[in-house]
Amino acid sequence: MRIVLFGPPGVGKGSQASMLVEKRGVTHISTGILLRRAIREETELGQKARDYVESGHLVPGELVRELANGALAEAGYDQFVLDGYPRTIDQANWLMSDLSDHGTSLTAVISLVVSDDVIVDRLSKRRINVRTGENYHLDYKPVPPDVPPEDVVQRKDDRAEAILHRLSVYRKKTFPVVAFFRDHGLLHEISGEGTFSDVCDRILQVADSGS
Ligand code: AMP
Repeated sequence: MRIVLFGPPGVGKGSQASMLVEKRGVTHISTGILLRRAIREETELGQKARDYVESGHLVPGELVRELANGALAEAGYDQFVLDGYPRTIDQANWLMSDLSDHGTSLTAVISLVVSDDVIVDRLSKRRINVRTGENYHLDYKPVPPDVPPEDVVQRKDDRAEAILHRLSVYRKKTFPVVAFFRDHGLLHEISGEGTFSDVCDRILQVADSGS
């Protein structure tokens, strides 16, 4: 499978991508994770990206294209799930042409749909393990007792002002990408509400049918 998991911040793309890694052995490519790592390691790219990421703005496209392409090359352009890329029409065009330059294409774009209330709840109660990158939710997936409290933080962009900004960026810049993929006959819209395993079953149904 060569898929994009698509949807607003907080919809559960990262958790569902980890599920695909575990169940299908694909490579998870998250530009958000790659950017946060570059920022932590203070690479040149990380320094350029820091202010954008922490305030919830989109990072200049060329930087994420470079990160995504590096990761796609490592995955051999196959058996991957992209999460958080593409986020604009430009990025979507780049992805299609970068894949086609390597003789391949996407098998599906799965767009997870949830209401705004669910998103704000998921993001504001999300916490992240800075060592492992694992996400928790204060109500549904509490931090296990053996994790040192100093390893668990709230992402700067999961605070209220940044959440509202990210949702408005999503509506303006990212939502049009849905129509782009629909026009390319790749789009599958599924509900991201319900239990984790309900959503996981819906994703597998689509992901497995095109691989
Ligand atoms: P995420 O972990 O996917 O929510 O991404 C966190 C932040 O990283 C976003 O709010 C952006 O600042 C940045 N980012 C991640 N992916 C992209 C992308 N494809 N284009 C531009 N900025 C991105």
